[in-house]
Amino acid sequence: MAINVKVLDRPIPQTSYVRATISGMALTLKHLLDRDKVTIQYPEQKLGVSPRWRGTHRMLTTEDGKAKCVACGLCPTVCPSNCIKLVPGEDENGNRYPLLFEIDEFRCIFCGYCQEVCPEEAIHVGRHYENSEYSREGFVYDLERLMSQTHPVCEMWDPADPKGE
Ligand code: SF4
Ligand code: SF4
Repeated sequence: MAINVKVLDRPIPQTSYVRATISGMALTLKHLLDRDKVTIQYPEQKLGVSPRWRGTHRMLTTEDGKAKCVACGLCPTVCPSNCIKLVPGEDENGNRYPLLFEIDEFRCIFCGYCQEVCPEEAIHVGRHYENSEYSREGFVYDLERLMSQTHPVCEMWDPADPKGE
């Protein structure tokens, strides 16, 4: 069986490397001469983050300094990354509380489901991003560490106010 070879004409105006190179260099030159600087001197200078920023978690506390969590188990159930560890306990009055509550910030994808589902508004994603560590273990936040966070918490998206106004 004969094999037919079809030779196509290369559309030079659209595929010219010279043209693309000149256009790229022109763009670079334009930005070189651009007087509006977009870089900042981090960490001395910082940009504010959106009220909807979802970063480092924070566990809110009651007036007497206890975690607001009632160990209902909803957040570890809903978490798509399986990064929340909860061991529930119960006091002599039948009140539930977390014996162990940990979030692995390294595995977390900051979806915010835990905040959305929490019936006590206890666990929140926070408007915070400076949480680098030297080891993976360092990213595992226990209850005490979650309670000691002081950064503002995320204002989740409200369908009644889609633009956040
Ligand atoms: S933000 Fe999402 S991924 Fe992170 S702990 Fe909460 S539910 Fe899990
Ligand atoms: S959803 Fe809220 S109350 Fe329930 S286990 Fe999670 S943090 Fe605690």
